Amino acid sequence: MQCPTCGEYGDLVIVKVKKTGEEVLVCTECDSLWKTVEAEHLGETVLDVSDFLTQRNLASDWGELELLRRV
Ligand SMILES: [Zn+2]
Repeated sequence: MQCPTCGEYGDLVIVKVKKTGEEVLVCTECDSLWKTVEAEHLGETVLDVSDFLTQRNLASDWGELELLRRV
């Protein structure tokens, strides 16, 4: 699925935050993050990956995320 923020470049993927178990949608290209796994109801971008991880006192690193599947 195309990312609504960066258009044709990004792939949206569902990832799990390893240390909290949260599942969120992220774009592999522009690092936009949505706090939902329902790609049909994305709405506005909530955060980007590094902000989201920083808020949880995690390293701002994709290594904190486990890739579950593409959407
Ligand atoms: Zn994107």
